[in-house]
Formats: sequence, C-alpha cells, structure tokens
Amino acid sequence: MRYVSTRGTAPVLTFGEAMLTGLARDGGLYVPETIPTMTPEEIADLAGLSYEKAAYRIMRPFVGDAFTDAEFREAIAHAYAHFGHAARAPLVQLAPDLFLLELFHGPTLAFKDFAMQLIGQLFQIALARDGRRITIVGATSGDTGSAAIEAFRGLDNVDVFILFPEGRVSEVQRRQMTTPSESNVHALAVKGDFDDCQARLKDMFNDFAFRDEVGLAGVNSINWARVLAQVVYYFTSAVSLGAPYRPVNFTVPTGNFGDIFAGYIAKRMGLPIGKLVIATNQNDILHRALTTGRYTTDGVKPSISPSMDIQVSSNFERALFDAYGRDGKAVAQMMDELKRGGFGISQGALETLRGLYHSGRVSEEETADSIRATWRATGELVCPHTAVGIRVAENARDTSVPMVALATAHPAKFPDAVEKATGQRPPLPERMADLFTRPERVTSVPNDLAALEAVVRERRRN
Ligand SMILES: *Cc1c(COP(=O)(O)O)cnc(C)c1O
Repeated sequence: MRYVSTRGTAPVLTFGEAMLTGLARDGGLYVPETIPTMTPEEIADLAGLSYEKAAYRIMRPFVGDAFTDAEFREAIAHAYAHFGHAARAPLVQLAPDLFLLELFHGPTLAFKDFAMQLIGQLFQIALARDGRRITIVGATSGDTGSAAIEAFRGLDNVDVFILFPEGRVSEVQRRQMTTPSESNVHALAVKGDFDDCQARLKDMFNDFAFRDEVGLAGVNSINWARVLAQVVYYFTSAVSLGAPYRPVNFTVPTGNFGDIFAGYIAKRMGLPIGKLVIATNQNDILHRALTTGRYTTDGVKPSISPSMDIQVSSNFERALFDAYGRDGKAVAQMMDELKRGGFGISQGALETLRGLYHSGRVSEEETADSIRATWRATGELVCPHTAVGIRVAENARDTSVPMVALATAHPAKFPDAVEKATGQRPPLPERMADLFTRPERVTSVPNDLAALEAVVRERRRN
C-alpha cells in the first residue's frame, strides 16, 4: 500500500513512513493511492465480532508491510484494553430512527482516544524496530493534548511535550495533561492563546536544525493513521444497525474534518452509508463552503463546543483532492489562495462534494437547547459537541434510514455547559474519580520560540 500527497509532489511513502512523517514535504496530506474495498459478505461477517477483531479486518489492507499481522493485532489489543466499555464504541438509542454512537469511553473521554491510543502503540513498535527516538510536540486547545499524553506516556522511545494556552483550557482538560507522573510527559503552559501555541509549534517544525537534533514528530489530526483508526466505528455501528443489507446515515460534529473524512473512507470501502452530515457550531466554514461554493476564513468565535472552534479545517484538503479528481496541482493552488483569505470551489467539484456531504450549523442557543431537549426526552446527558450533532441529525434524518449521531466527548469533560443547560452536573466516571486530587506537574513557559526549544532540549531524555 502506497501513500501519495494531496499536493502531488512529495515522495510516495509506505504506511509506516506516512505515519511517522505526518505532514508531507510539499505541505500536503498523505492519502492511500487506492482505497481497498470490502464485499457485502465480508461486511456481514463483521457482525458479532469484538471491536478489536473487526478493527483488524477493516484496517489491515491499509497497513501493507509496515507491520506484521501479529504486530498489528497486538497493537490493536493494547490500544483498546483500557477503555471503560466492553463494546468500545456502544450505540444508544435516542428515538425510533436516531442513535448515539458513544465514542467517549477511552482514557481521556473523547473520541480522539480511538486513534491516539492506536498510533501510540504503532509508534512504539516502529521506533523499537529501528532503534529510533523521537520527540513529539503538539499544541492543543484541550482534547488532543490529553489524548496524546495518554497514548505516549511511559513509552521508551518517545518524549511528549504538549503546549496549551495557560488558563484557557477546562480544569478537567488541564488535569488530564498535568497529572500523569511518567517522566517522558511534559505539559507546557504557554503564556498566550491557542493560536500562539500553534504558531510556536509551526516555528519549531520550520527550524530544521532543531527538528533534526531532537527528532521532532507530530501527531495532529492530519496524520493518516489517525483517520484510519476512525474508520472502524463507522463499520461496527452500521453493521449493528443492519448493514450491509440496509443503509445507515451518520452525522458528525466536525472541526478539522478528520472524523467525518473517516466516514467517507468507510463509504468508499463499500459500507452502505446514505448521508454523511457535517455538523458545525457557529464556526461554520464547512457549512458555508458547501452552501455557497466559497471557502473563506472568518476568524474564530469561541463557543461552548470549543473542540470545534476552528478557522481552517485541515483535513478538508483530502476531500478536495478527491473532488478534483486527485489533481494535486489544483489543490496546491487553492491552498495558496487560502493564505490570502479563501478560494472558490469549481462547479464540478462542488457538485461532487454536495453529493457526498450534507451539512448543518447550530447556534450557541440551539446547542444549549439541544442538550436540554435530549436530556428531557431520553434522560441522556450529552456534551455540547454531541448536542450540535444531535440537532443537525434531527434536521437531516429521513425515517426510512437509521441516523447515527457521533457522541464525540463525555459530558463530564464539559460539566459547566451541561449543568447550565440541564441543572445536572455530570460526574466523572469512577475510574478517574481521583483526577481532582492527583498532584499536578506543569511548566510555565513564555510565548517565545527560543525559550520553548530550550525547555524541550533540557527535558527530553536521551
Ligand atoms: C476533535 C473534536 C471534534 C472535531 O473532530 P474533527 O475530526 O476535528 O472534525 C469534535 N468533538 C470533540 C469533542 C473533539 O474533541
């Protein structure tokens, strides 16, 4: 299996190389050269399998020779062993034709654990084999950082540094990053906002001497291995609801477009997905792009669903690449125009995208109302991101096809918004009830590249 860049000029890589590289050298994102497919019989055979067994069958063809069968099977087994639910991604029914896919039973209570836990295991195997050490540096507005720390804590060949904006993440999110005691984990509170953290991270990657010196690696949401891990739960949930004999629709609370793009891959593999619906909050660049045909940035408006507060949706580049018939040059040109504020999508590509994706946007008031209405109708407390998805799903469903709304985080991760809407404060699951009493370890750093690099140099183990 070979991986090509969405901008057409970076080297073609194996799965293992694409995973460790992250961003392609031409600035593009890696995608498989061809998408493997599953027959209806193979899909039907997934029914009743454990999540791990299904995951192995679905992902194996994408991995090629990068890992042996035994290595890959073991990585999957370890990745999901610490989830708090035997089904890993259970379905809950909200209405006759509406289901919630709970993706928050991992160690940090958000769906990002599905991918991050797996790539933690895969990195470990690949690095041990090559005798390599790397330094992972990531920037986070909350969920990605804690998921990365959980996935890489205690691993032999990895140091992990997470930059987060001091004072601007929720207490649960902060404690998830500052309470792990492993010496390879480094939580860095940056005096600045999330954009500052991302900008300093980019500066670090562009400092090639530093990058080589410390073996810098990234695990942000454009990493192909993360997208792949997310394909699995589209299959397991759809099969539970009657696929391949019956189509299933999905609605996905969307920020960087990684999760919903995994749904598109599942569809291309042969899963009978009817509608794939993008749900956005008031940061609605994707909804506007599909509606108007123009993709233009508009500044981030902070919302009560902060993990979807984005200015530019990075994985959308992968969707554009396919919609433009895999024309890397056209994609590179659009991304160039984006630096100047936006670009228009061609009529043909727009029709292709509209045929694949539906979309909806939910205001702040509607988000709170959706949390409240869901609780009143079903007794389920949902996080604000999930509530955005549910509201859009309700507007997009057609009663002959079951609609699955993805529940992307546990309500206890965003207790203030949930309590404000319902009067109920969602408790943390038992297994992390000591989060508020564990000691914190955090280094406060100025918003300055040289200072950050000095901390990374000094702290990483050699
Ligand atoms: C990351 C995240 C999202 C957005 O997912 P994308 O793959 O970036 O579209 C939605 N909800 C929650 C809770 C998240 O952490």
